[in-house]
Amino acid sequence: MLYIVATPIGNLEDITMRALRVLGEVDVIAAEDTRRTIKLLNHYEIKTKLLSFHEHSDKGKRDRIIGELLDGKDIALVSDAGTPLISDPGAILVSEAVSRGIEVTSMPGACAAITALTLSGQDGAFAFVGFLPKKASDKAKAIEKIAERDMVSVLYESPHALSKTLDALRIACGEDRHIVVAKELTKIHEHVFRGSLKEAIDFFGIENKGEYVLIVSEREEETEATDEQIIALLDEYITNGMTKKDAANATSKKLGIRPNRAYRLTL
Ligand code: SAM
Repeated sequence: MLYIVATPIGNLEDITMRALRVLGEVDVIAAEDTRRTIKLLNHYEIKTKLLSFHEHSDKGKRDRIIGELLDGKDIALVSDAGTPLISDPGAILVSEAVSRGIEVTSMPGACAAITALTLSGQDGAFAFVGFLPKKASDKAKAIEKIAERDMVSVLYESPHALSKTLDALRIACGEDRHIVVAKELTKIHEHVFRGSLKEAIDFFGIENKGEYVLIVSEREEETEATDEQIIALLDEYITNGMTKKDAANATSKKLGIRPNRAYRLTL
């Protein structure tokens, strides 16, 4: 069996009991960064053998893992942090294992994108973008898609590229587009910024440290309704006993705006 095992994105307690049991029971753990995984294993006194497996691992390394699985060994695949294959290595290995008839199972757990989404306070459809492409023309296309999308876009970004990306988003989406920037989730310096792209640019400046998830709101529909009008109606519904969610839905219907916009304004 190949086990895809989610590991913490910061706080070592964010791992399931099943994941810990499996990490202790498998024959080998294939890890993106063995130095990082050893810290997790030491914390939980797990002694399983580690094998390095990262984005530059060649076919020979994959063949070795597939060979061991075909020999009846159990192997766990873990990434640096969070859920493997989510902007992390493992896709080809999993496809090869599936095509060779090897059983594959996945142990759900921490994922920065999902953690940030829950903090954004919206529960509708979303597009997972991950890291923007490196090539300038592909990056520009991806940003244009984010600007036009009618659902939220979830991005991963490194600290040194954050300010440039916020600026590119501002140019494509306009400075008033709403964004949530979730920094250092589950860690001591966790911070969730909520506001417009202009405010985000002012807040984060040029130099940043840490890890970031960006949740860019969907394109606003053409509407005459201002935030003040929406808030006034929300207030009225909530004062009359509606939950925030029901008030957001009722306001959205009445003013012809997206439910997400109304719900955000209840926050
Ligand atoms: N597989 C991981 C997951 O499930 O979230 C993502 C791996 S990706 C290589 C690393 C990126 O995820 C970081 O650059 C950052 O954008 C985001 N990330 C990971 N941990 C984070 C955290 N604790 N807080 C905010 N963002 C985080």
